[in-house]
Amino acid sequence: MESLKGKIAVVTGASRGIGESIANSLADAGATVVLAARDANRLETVRESIKTRGGQAVAILTDVRSADSVAELAVQVEQQFGGADILINNAGYGVFAKVLDMKLEDFDGMFDVNVRGVFLCTKAFLPGMIKRHGGQIVNIASLASKNSFVGGAAYSATKFALLGFARSLMLEVRDYNIRVVTICPGAVNTEFSDHAKDAHTIIQPEDIAETTLFALTMPARTNVSEIDVRPARILK
Ligand code: NAP
Repeated sequence: MESLKGKIAVVTGASRGIGESIANSLADAGATVVLAARDANRLETVRESIKTRGGQAVAILTDVRSADSVAELAVQVEQQFGGADILINNAGYGVFAKVLDMKLEDFDGMFDVNVRGVFLCTKAFLPGMIKRHGGQIVNIASLASKNSFVGGAAYSATKFALLGFARSLMLEVRDYNIRVVTICPGAVNTEFSDHAKDAHTIIQPEDIAETTLFALTMPARTNVSEIDVRPARILK
């Protein structure tokens, strides 16, 4: 098993939900975590909680929709830590409506964060990983990258796009010793949506954090490139 001790990990969307859980797990595993999102107060709460448990974390306010903001994040990480070993492309959101009712601003907004944001972050950190001949990029996609459902046309389109992006990226960078992992969760218990959640069956954010840690700590010769995470059972 590979160790994360001494690794620098950037987590987008680390202010709550899945990103917060992944940040906690990576810090507990010995990585120094760079928490990137827009909500300063929530980022600070996550940072404090990691520090209280003896971990290392810094918060850098970042809006993944902005090329300047992402470029500034990469500069800060380079200056403070000499670059990132791990990038977790997690920031994302969903607006669910039938195509007839979907607003253009929501359609564009989801593509800006869920797809363009991943492109910007990847492009910002890839040169450093290539220079140091190593790195790992984890993309938090969704089962909506593979499945279709009523009201999911726009969100699903962003996550299908992300999966397509990630599959090509994985092939493009593996000869630089950079591994790309894409995780496709089903519904997870976060603030992401107000869909009914069955407390007995719903996946918890910690489960996605554990999945991420599993992929990141595989032997360096192996790339677990894609993982679907489903509820084990659906209670009727
Ligand atoms: P969440 O609790 O709503 O958290 C979303 C995170 O994304 C927040 O930290 C938010 O931070 C960040 N974010 C949103 N827009 C951003 C922006 N422009 N720049 C930087 N950060 C931004 O949702 P979640 O469930 O943890 O979702 C995390 C990822 O998992 C998303 O990509 C989502 O599509 C995916 N996913 C979720 C589920 C689910 O059922 N929960 C299932 C499959 C996949 P700020 O608001 O502070 O910026």
